[in-house]
Amino acid sequence: MRPLVASIDLAAIRHNYAVAKRCAPGRSAFAVVKANAYGHGVREVVTALHDLADGFAVACLEEAAEVRALHADARLLLLEGCFEAAEYQLAAQLGLDVVVHTEPQAVQLLAASLRRPLNTWLKLDSGMHRLGFSAAAVRDWHARLQGAEQVAELNLLSHFACADERGHALTEQQLEGFLDLLDLDFAQRSLANSAAILTIPAAHMDWLRPGIMLYGATPFSELSAGELGLQPVMTLSAQLLAIRQVAVGESVGYGASWTAARASRIGTVSCGYADGYPRHAPSGTPLLIRGQRLPLVGRVSMDMLAVDLTDLPAAQLGDEVQLWGAQLPVDEVAHAAGTIGYELLSKVTRRVPRRYHNA
Ligand SMILES: *Cc1c(COP(=O)(O)O)cnc(C)c1O
Repeated sequence: MRPLVASIDLAAIRHNYAVAKRCAPGRSAFAVVKANAYGHGVREVVTALHDLADGFAVACLEEAAEVRALHADARLLLLEGCFEAAEYQLAAQLGLDVVVHTEPQAVQLLAASLRRPLNTWLKLDSGMHRLGFSAAAVRDWHARLQGAEQVAELNLLSHFACADERGHALTEQQLEGFLDLLDLDFAQRSLANSAAILTIPAAHMDWLRPGIMLYGATPFSELSAGELGLQPVMTLSAQLLAIRQVAVGESVGYGASWTAARASRIGTVSCGYADGYPRHAPSGTPLLIRGQRLPLVGRVSMDMLAVDLTDLPAAQLGDEVQLWGAQLPVDEVAHAAGTIGYELLSKVTRRVPRRYHNA
């Protein structure tokens, strides 16, 4: 068997969910499990949080159906709402909470004949300018949806653009825009993603929406997951498949992009970009062998990458190589590769087997 595995610590996910809840006592939380639970496996994550989570949030109906099959009665929020009119029937069958962020969505909801009314979250575009209504349109739709036969709870939701940069002016503006609408009668309100849960108590409202923090990564560049009390969840481990000596001036890998400046001992590792390791990770991106950080060298290939073992003479064929995880935060690798933990975790591909444990 190919020596590459993503070990997933389900107890750490439960711990991290409890951290979110502890930040906002008395509030409820949708565990965000879109994109296959950020790459961790939606079935296992939902099962691990079954008795703990107040609800789950997903990006589309297909994801919602998967969660509903595992959890008959959890609240389940469709973050982008329905993509076409016919989806409202399915949303009602599955008992979903739906976001409504465009006029066609609202019109289709009002035209639908549903077996039961839906909890409906009007989405305010408070400044992200991706999805949602203006404040004036929220007021308008509030009046038209309140009491409609298709609507159970009428709720308000918005999303931060910069909550991961502490003290950003837009965050204050977005919060104010949200608060300005609370003279309207909403049954529930939701605003906080992980970053806001961790640092903006005034944004906690009724329902939190923790995503990345559940998976033990930080939304912040200047605050580590460890400092936030989060436990790492996924450890991606490979092996040293080959070791060779490379003389000064010899190159390693495609494009001969890295050349040895000293006599070097180079290891070949069983992980590549087809596994989700970022191809653009530059030489120097850290890998962990025998507890020591060592630099990636040369270009990442489809199935393999190379590491400079010169400073770890004890390294041997078959040694475990941690790409990220318990001892090497995914955020540190993401930073070196010019991306974020979210992307690395959610892009681990299907061919990497996931192994679950409750450490
Ligand atoms: C993905 C998502 C979240 C979770 O965000 P994190 O930064 O991962 O906590 C919350 N709300 C919405 C609308 C989202 O799309």
